[in-house]
Amino acid sequence: MIRIAIQAKGRLNEESVALLREAGITIEDSKRKLLARSDDFPLEVLYLRDDDIPQAVAMGVADLGIVGLNEVEEKEQEVDTVHRLGFGKCRLSLAVPKADAYEGVRSLAGKRIATSYPNILKRFLNEQGVQADIHEIAGSVEIAPAVGMADAIFDIVSSGGTLITNGLKEVEKVIWSEAVLVASRNLSPEKRTLLNQLLFRFEAVERSRGMKYVLLNLPNDRIEEAIRILPGMKSPTLLPLAQEGWSSLHAVINEKELWKRIEQLKAIGAEDILVLALEKMIL
Ligand code: ATP
Ligand code: MG
Repeated sequence: MIRIAIQAKGRLNEESVALLREAGITIEDSKRKLLARSDDFPLEVLYLRDDDIPQAVAMGVADLGIVGLNEVEEKEQEVDTVHRLGFGKCRLSLAVPKADAYEGVRSLAGKRIATSYPNILKRFLNEQGVQADIHEIAGSVEIAPAVGMADAIFDIVSSGGTLITNGLKEVEKVIWSEAVLVASRNLSPEKRTLLNQLLFRFEAVERSRGMKYVLLNLPNDRIEEAIRILPGMKSPTLLPLAQEGWSSLHAVINEKELWKRIEQLKAIGAEDILVLALEKMIL
């Protein structure tokens, strides 16, 4: 049995649950419970505030955790970051009122900076050799300059829309974050095996993201051209059709390239093109 801590509610909750589900791990639907058991994998889910996840994993209260890299860096707990999960992407940035002059980090010397990430900010300012006053506040950091609580802020940014709404401009991008899988440093051999099984499943799910399975029919004399258009996992699968002189070709294509490839294939005589969703890719 292995125990994973995930965010109880908030921006990472849904995608954490979805990732487990896609990895074949369904969790009893008892939202109100703090701890829930999976029916189909020896795993328990512990629902926590994201702030508490690094410590829970460091203490061994949970063996694993899904949490933003920003929280891992901030909490300075002894955990291993074993895998990047590709969702919850954001950055931690410094921002100042739009009208302020800003000429590099030195402009922040002696200023009051509001943040919920004092440790990351402290490390950054030290590296830059700049001394400033760090004001730790729990939330609504972005309004601090407007109400006179601070001269600058250090906060999570994704699109930058919140900064603009609050009359701020982003002046330094300090760290990039995404959801990561963290693990306790002293897992038993049994738990390490379960972790490896989980990682194997997560990787299969991730690989299939944005990939489509394409089937099409084409005349045999066009196969070579089609293979050049469609570099598959190894090479595309080719099957003869009942109709003489024709074959069916199957390949995996990245969604980003899908339409371009399909247009090229049609141009060389491909017909009956089917595009199917791809669930898992196991190499
Ligand atoms: P909790 O109640 O668990 O303490 P919270 O309010 O601290 O939740 P959320 O706002 O739910 O945190 O964000 C959780 C994590 O999601 C953040 O630590 C960060 O890693 C990521 N995140 C936050 N804001 C964004 C955003 N705008 N875009 C993408 N990811 C984000
Ligand atoms: Mg939090």
